[in-house]
Amino acid sequence: MKFVEVGWNGIFFEAPEDFRLLNERGNFKDGYMRFESENGILELKWEHAPRRTKSISEVASEFIKQLGKKYKKMKISVKKTKATRVFKHHASYMGLKTNMEEPTYLWHCDESKRIILCHFAFKSMNETSREIVKRVIETFKCHGEDPNTWSLLGFSFKAPPTFLLTDRKMTVGGSHLLLVERETGLYKEMRREIFFQYYSMANILFKDDYKDPVKWMENNYIKNLKKRYRKLKFQEVEPRRFRRHTAAVQKGASKSGFFWRGRSVYTNLTWYCSKSNRMYSVTISSHMKKPVFSKLELDEKALENLAETVFSSIKCH
Ligand SMILES: [Zn+2]
Ligand SMILES: [Zn+2]
Repeated sequence: MKFVEVGWNGIFFEAPEDFRLLNERGNFKDGYMRFESENGILELKWEHAPRRTKSISEVASEFIKQLGKKYKKMKISVKKTKATRVFKHHASYMGLKTNMEEPTYLWHCDESKRIILCHFAFKSMNETSREIVKRVIETFKCHGEDPNTWSLLGFSFKAPPTFLLTDRKMTVGGSHLLLVERETGLYKEMRREIFFQYYSMANILFKDDYKDPVKWMENNYIKNLKKRYRKLKFQEVEPRRFRRHTAAVQKGASKSGFFWRGRSVYTNLTWYCSKSNRMYSVTISSHMKKPVFSKLELDEKALENLAETVFSSIKCH
């Protein structure tokens, strides 16, 4: 069986390649993911728990109660419970039985201040299902990843853990992710963003432009980008090779405001990935607002470094 990396909201593990993402919601603090395949189901749930206000056994009984509601009249039996370890944590294992076999792991991660629940469901426990459970649990990491890996649906990149998932859309036609880092001081408001986007079936969807990233940007994408970054204009274009694909880096800057001056800088990398037939466009930006009298300046070099670090970590196929 082939396994692929999944990285999301500071959680990382390896899942079978044929596991499809069916549901995903939330953020770093509280979130949910559900994967399904012919072989089984994997559900992940994490919940903000700054102090150990709930014990693991309380969380376990809450979970069984919820499961009971879902299955209505079916009996849930707890076949086995034992203490185990996941990553660097003491964890609790429950072998649940409904009309399915449902191995469930629960633990408290003090470092990321979350309670994490990892729940599998299989028609029966056989060699394949055992291999899946073993691989997911053995590769699981819930903290200490710096930078964080964002890996799902065939793409992957890394971003500093200060960047939090703020918006996303995942569809068959393509996906976008917006990661935002904020810093507010007395005399400034600073925001940095990573806007990661791709479109599938690019050779059909953009049949006239997909081979030329600059033309594609101009004819298809800049209007989308301007919905988010109103004043954006690219002033510099530089052709580049990226993972053997033809790419372009474009840079821009904009100003706004009177008493509180706003200044933004942008770096975008766009390319067509022939292996996945996707058009990718990644925009890294830095935005600062400060009063006119303040001498603070946007650190363009820092943005440049961030952009290069993120770009070099991207895998597109
Ligand atoms: Zn942890
Ligand atoms: Zn590629």
